[in-house]
Amino acid sequence: MPGVTNDLILETLKSVKDPGSGKDIVSAGMVQGLQTKDGHVAFAIEVDPKRGAEMEPLRKEAEKKVHAMPGVVSATVVLTAEKKAGPAPGAQGGRPTQPGQPVPPKAGGDILPGVRSIVAVASGKGGVGKSTTAVNLALGLAAAGHKVGLLDADIYGPSMPRMMGISGRPNSVDGKTLDPMQNYGIKVMSIGFMVDEETPMIWRGPMVQSALEQMMRDVNWGELDVMIVDMPPGTGDAQLTMAQRVPLTGAVIVSTPQDIALLDARKGLNMFRKVDVPVFGIIENMSYFLCPDNGKRYDIFGHGGARREAERLGVDFLGEVPIEIPIREHSDAGTPIVVSMPESSAAENYRNIARTVWTKIETATGAKAAPRIVIQ
Ligand code: ADP
Repeated sequence: MPGVTNDLILETLKSVKDPGSGKDIVSAGMVQGLQTKDGHVAFAIEVDPKRGAEMEPLRKEAEKKVHAMPGVVSATVVLTAEKKAGPAPGAQGGRPTQPGQPVPPKAGGDILPGVRSIVAVASGKGGVGKSTTAVNLALGLAAAGHKVGLLDADIYGPSMPRMMGISGRPNSVDGKTLDPMQNYGIKVMSIGFMVDEETPMIWRGPMVQSALEQMMRDVNWGELDVMIVDMPPGTGDAQLTMAQRVPLTGAVIVSTPQDIALLDARKGLNMFRKVDVPVFGIIENMSYFLCPDNGKRYDIFGHGGARREAERLGVDFLGEVPIEIPIREHSDAGTPIVVSMPESSAAENYRNIARTVWTKIETATGAKAAPRIVIQ
């Protein structure tokens, strides 16, 4: 039996009417974050927060109708009181400033007033080492003396709590905002601190947008030079919306050298271009393997694909990271290599990549003051 599709679901949902406006919920643009996987359907209905309680029957009706569709195994519908996406402040790649002018700390606009720049770390697919790269890049930036935050937006597979060696739940002093967790000198926020690992993945779909906004707006990030956002893998609608909603200064794409992974990287590139976010460049991860026994180098996935592809696509190549057992061991143990083995060549490599990324941030935000000419 052919699986149920988003189009079919939307068609069905057109029969659900918002009693307030009299319009169906699809035409009224109230259906958000629709996700379908193996017959499991989840989405959110965006409602006016004041009308939340009276919308419950509407939610139930939508859920019931979708659940009754052939091919649907489960339907999870939640109400969300989210605001419509406006143009993301800073989404054009930072604020233009006159050379020599101080840069106002406003990459994050109203939601993140103290954050000077936000950089997404993305990948075309999972398992390429995006999170490992995000962590070590963040720590590399911190090692250079920058104030760094790490936002784990990978709602489907949050790995920051484990990789950063943080457990427990964030504290709230005023009952309204959360204090970010901290380790190795950087502030960290992840849905993994809030949602139990057992929460079904499918349920997280509709939560993506609101959770992300909450993790930005309702967390006391304070003053940051840069916030690194570990994006969910892939280049689908969820990622696209996210890229639109987060006021990104730029994006870094992580890819392995394999052709297929590169194809995915290309999609990532196009995604950011669509939403006018400058792509700082591509990092090739798992570039080659240096055998610890004989020092011999093995190009397991074929080396250099990302560099060639970056050239072809006209984006910068930011660096390559070999497969090294300690990178994985330290990543999995919550002691990232940049802090646990700062003398290693791997750590130095990440710090170099971080330096290149910082230059890109400075260029994008106009933060680097032009040399002042003093006439005496
Ligand atoms: P993603 O975020 O793309 O899903 P992860 O960062 O979780 O990928 O990495 C997947 C696995 O590969 C993890 O176990 C991680 O420790 C390991 N890994 C990532 N990069 C490297 C590397 N350069 N060398 C060795 N292991 C790596």
